[in-house]
Amino acid sequence: MSGIQWYPGHMTRARRQVEADLAKVDLALELVDARVPVSSRNPDIDRILGQKPRIILLNKSDLAHPAATQKFAESFRSRGIPALSVDAASGEGVKAIAPAVEQALQQLLQRWQQRGMRPRPFRAMVLGIPNVGKSSLINRLAGRRRTVTADRPGVTRGPQWVSIGQKLELLDTPGILWPKFEDPTVGLKLSATGAVSDLVVDVQHVASYILQAIRDKAIETLQERYSLNVLEVPEASWLDAVAKRRGFLLSGGVYDREKAAIQVLGDFRAGKLGRFTLDETE
Ligand code: GDP
Repeated sequence: MSGIQWYPGHMTRARRQVEADLAKVDLALELVDARVPVSSRNPDIDRILGQKPRIILLNKSDLAHPAATQKFAESFRSRGIPALSVDAASGEGVKAIAPAVEQALQQLLQRWQQRGMRPRPFRAMVLGIPNVGKSSLINRLAGRRRTVTADRPGVTRGPQWVSIGQKLELLDTPGILWPKFEDPTVGLKLSATGAVSDLVVDVQHVASYILQAIRDKAIETLQERYSLNVLEVPEASWLDAVAKRRGFLLSGGVYDREKAAIQVLGDFRAGKLGRFTLDETE
């Protein structure tokens, strides 16, 4: 998924698909990456969602700084958007989603009751930029007892609904939205967290950015893991230090900085350097 290259045509198609699916649901579960809760939001999300009720899910919270995640969640809530911290990989926090959906849709329930309508299960869909954990979350929510029912009898294509308990149905395909492109720092953050394919970025540049972003909070970790003393070694030689420690050498004894960069990226994304939030809280 992270290999997607976004062009205007793709963006228009993705947007139309999301809008068509949104018309079928009562609420959107907007997934963001807890390490970059602002940078990982689609730039047009407010316009796309319009008045549609939503809940923001700060996913991959296991990799983000816990206090920062709480701050971001509170910041969203203070703007009237319910927000929860989740980890779709382990399932942490996922149980709180269905009750939060119910709570967010109380007004809708009241409207149905006022009109004498029999309540049906609420319908929701997951959406977010590539690699943010949409499929993982759908699988987590659906669980093993995945009961898939066709949208209409006799129709095999089209949306499939997954029952989450008695009161909630989830569209089994997520809405895929394009990330922000314009701001180069946002691009670096999205590369660092894996939302943008390594094929289209300069991995050495991204790895250097990561090391710089975490240097003050990870001095000991970087020393232990890479024998890198960020206080003494000049920044331009950080990747050389990593390559030296790991024995990444090219012919002629030149340090393989590319391989070192890939190592740093992998370690960061796996949480081996610690839990970091790259966006600033307000
Ligand atoms: P999608 O492209 O949005 O559907 O993202 P995926 O569900 O395919 O997830 C992308 C990658 O992130 C996969 O390697 C998942 O295992 C991983 N992932 C998803 N959610 C979490 C999470 O909460 N924590 C961690 N550590 N990894 C996650």
